[in-house]
Amino acid sequence: MTTALITHPDCLNHITPEGHPERVARLEAVAEALKDLDLLRLDAPMGEDSQILRAHPQTHIDRIKTAGVSQLDPDTYMSEGSLTAAYRGVGAVVKAVDMVLGGEVANAFCAIRPPGHHAEREKPMGFCLFGNIAIAAKHALEVHGLSRVAIMDFDVHHGNGTQDLVWDDARILFASTHQMPLYPGSGEASETGAHGNVLNVPLDPETDGAVFRAAMTEQVLPAIDAFAPELILISAGFDAHKNDPLANLNWIEDDFAWATHQLCDLADKHCDGRVVSTLEGGYDLDGLAASCAAHVNVLMERGK
Ligand SMILES: [Zn+2]
Repeated sequence: MTTALITHPDCLNHITPEGHPERVARLEAVAEALKDLDLLRLDAPMGEDSQILRAHPQTHIDRIKTAGVSQLDPDTYMSEGSLTAAYRGVGAVVKAVDMVLGGEVANAFCAIRPPGHHAEREKPMGFCLFGNIAIAAKHALEVHGLSRVAIMDFDVHHGNGTQDLVWDDARILFASTHQMPLYPGSGEASETGAHGNVLNVPLDPETDGAVFRAAMTEQVLPAIDAFAPELILISAGFDAHKNDPLANLNWIEDDFAWATHQLCDLADKHCDGRVVSTLEGGYDLDGLAASCAAHVNVLMERGK
């Protein structure tokens, strides 16, 4: 068994304005960091509307399809290549779920952009157009017949979009650690989902990986363990890194590796090690590259 790396050159054609943190160089840095690893490398297929419709209404899909070159909110831009890039992102996570659940690979990482965890049901925002990780979860439930899928989001920002897309779906546990206060402002511990299926763990600014590890150990990991997922999905943002310009947590590469090990432990216990991870944020290129490599190295080690 091996680890799949699913990506596509089209994800480099999503061009944001000069100075925008969510830029092409991010994915180039990730590709460079992973280039010598012994991964099964695959091009992402295009996602399909039927897959997106499990998370977003047709009106949202139509809005993104017809937006053209535009600014959708203060942070979220579309260039000529953005629509195709977004569909590659959806296609990547769906393909990853198919491969992992089909037993073709042990686990998978999707190196894609634009990211997805801020996109709400009818609202692109925070650099995100489609809710990739929620779409992946719903694909696993609807197409592969799973009953329980857990999503862990350790991006430094709250995954408000994922929370919105899974809020009323008892089959999905959504757990998020994030700095608070910080964009987008949601993610209070009191937000628990329609079925108690959402776990938000806000972290104070300027805290380090020890605080994150304690929050994981005391809250997140027991919740995932009790949920007994049949698949674990990861919204892997690396912007809690100490050098990230958009936030104020002080994690280092080893914190991401540690979290990955912990999630793989639970995957081993409950679901034959099945893990699908996808890139969200991370805006310091060196911190992003090193942290992402640490994360993927653990997936590879655990996927052997
Ligand atoms: Zn983020």
